Order: sequence, then C-alpha cells, then structure tokens
Amino acid sequence: METSPPARRLATRFVAGDTLDEALAVARRVGSEGIAITLDHLGESVASLEEAAEARDVYLHALSAIHDSGIQGNVSLKLTEFGLDFSYDQCRANVERLVQRAAAVNGFVRVDMESSAYTQRTIDLVTDLHARHGAVGVVIQACLYRSRNDIENLCARGIRVRLCKGAYLEPASVAFPRKSDVDRNYVELMQLLLSRGAYPAIATHDENIIRQTEAYAAERKIPREAFEFQMLYGIRRDLQRRLASEGYRLRLYVPFGKAWYPYYMRRLAERPANVLFMARNLFRQ
Ligand SMILES: Cc1cc2nc3c(=O)[nH]c(=O)nc-3n(C[C@H](O)[C@H](O)[C@H](O)COP(=O)(O)OP(=O)(O)OC[C@H]3O[C@@H](n4cnc5c(N)ncnc54)[C@H](O)[C@@H]3O)c2cc1C
Repeated sequence: METSPPARRLATRFVAGDTLDEALAVARRVGSEGIAITLDHLGESVASLEEAAEARDVYLHALSAIHDSGIQGNVSLKLTEFGLDFSYDQCRANVERLVQRAAAVNGFVRVDMESSAYTQRTIDLVTDLHARHGAVGVVIQACLYRSRNDIENLCARGIRVRLCKGAYLEPASVAFPRKSDVDRNYVELMQLLLSRGAYPAIATHDENIIRQTEAYAAERKIPREAFEFQMLYGIRRDLQRRLASEGYRLRLYVPFGKAWYPYYMRRLAERPANVLFMARNLFRQ
C-alpha cells in the first residue's frame, strides 16, 4: 500500500507529504491562519535499534528546522519508533537526546500514547525525563479506566497532558467498551485537566465536547492562553477555522513520512464514511 501511487494519493488527505520540507510547508500555511503544529514522523514499530536511531535523527533535524524557521511548533513521537520493543534503556536514551535538544531551544516533545501494552512504560519514561529536563509531555486516553489516576499523578508533577479518546482497540478489561462511556469520561478528565493541569491539550474533533470545554473554561474564568485545542491535519477544517478565528489556541498534528499505512488505517477505522470515501476514489483511479 505504501508504495502504490493511487493509495498514496488517498493518504494525502491526512498526511502532509513524504518529506520534512512538505510538512514545514503545511506548518507555514496553517501558521498564517494563527494555527500551531506538532510534527509527527510516521514510522511506529521499527524493526531494529538502527532504525530507531535513524528516527531519532529525523526528529533532531525536525526540531532544529522548526526552531530555525521560527514556526510555532513542536514534535510528537511514538516510543515504538524510538525502539521500545527492543530496549527500554536504548529507547529512553534516544528520547532523552531529543528532549535535551528541545530544552536547549525552548522547544517541546510530546510522547504519543500507543496501545495499553505500552501505557505504564510510556508514563514512566516521560516522568523520568521530565524530572531531569522538563520539555516533555505525554498523552492520556479517555477510553482507559486508569486514566483519571494517571492524570492526577501527572498534574501533581506539572507534566503537560494531551487528552484524547484513544485510537487503539482495547479489551473490556482495561477500557470502556461503549463510546458513550468514553465520551463521558473524556468530559470529566477535560474538567480535571483544565482545573489542575499544566497547559493541557484538549485533542478532539468532537464538537459537543469542544463546546463543553469552551463553556467550562468560561464559567471558571480559565484564560484561553491556559490550554489549547488540538486536531489532526485534514479533519474538520471548518471547526479548526472557527476555533482559530475565535481566538482559541489550536495546534494541528501534522504527520509526514513514507510509513503512513497504520496511521491512515486508524483514521479510516474511526469513521465508516472514510472507508466509503476511499472506496469511491479507488474506483475512480
Ligand atoms: C492532536 C491529536 C493527537 C492524538 N494523539 C493520539 C495518541 O497519542 N494516542 C491515541 O490513541 N490517539 C490519539 N489521537 C486520536 C484520538 O484518540 C481519536 O482516535 C481521534 O481523535 C478521533 O476521536 P475524536 O475525539 O475526534 O472523537 P470522535 O467521536 O471519534 O469523532 C468526533 C467527530 O470528529 C470527526 N472525525 C473524527 N475522526 C475522524 C476521521 N478519522 N475522519 C473524519 N472525521 C473524523 C467526525 O466529524 C466525528 O463525528 C489523537 C487525536 C488528536 C486530535
């Protein structure tokens, strides 16, 4: 799929391009509308520690390019791209290089959350590096039962949290099976983060939850500079424009790179209409 030109064209809806330059061009374009970005180099679950070191170098380069070009941005990474499946210590060392660089240039590294098999190790690694360098934060998924407890611990340490619903299929032993429960938990965790979190990121395209966030912040007189909304590149551009034009802080998650297949499949799985859209376009090729 990743090397097929028609399939590649479909992925451009959600992916900025193969190269860092293409991602930076997107960053400049949305930056002119007052929207910040976080760059994600696609490539989870690398096959060796050599590949993990290559991924780390791509990120070091991306961080420098963001800084040098004055773009309002930071980076988001997955620990399985940094070698977590092979060695916790090597993975930690790779991420530490990046976090040290981010701390030196007033940048920031967000560690994405993968499936529940990685949750504890991800939180441990981020907590450790945050205590040494700052400049790093994590993602918490509202679908997991454990998330309130995790958020309370992270807030107590001043670690920045991005709240999302969760993109991985999880067993009922660890996650709410019903979407309505995930949504309810999301709202409760959003309120906790807005009240106690360090510059939280409310990452969703759910218009109802976004309105509840706006209302909660207004009621509690939480300033708009104290948190940000985040959305994925290519999803709900109408909502993105509305939030930016109303003076809310908004950051787009902008993926780039050749290994787009798993990311693209998660976006399709989130919304059945996307699969129809893809099928129609494939027949048009
Ligand atoms: C900035 C950002 C970072 C994220 N990081 C992580 C992470 O680290 N770990 C993780 O597990 N998940 C992550 N996610 C994904 C997240 O967990 C959800 O899978 C995803 O955001 C869809 O959920 P939703 O909150 O938009 O709500 P939903 O209820 O799924 O969707 C609400 C509405 O948004 C629109 N929409 C949502 N998804 C799509 C789509 N794919 N295509 C078209 N329209 C769509 C539709 O209008 C839909 O009705 C991230 C999401 C964002 C925005």
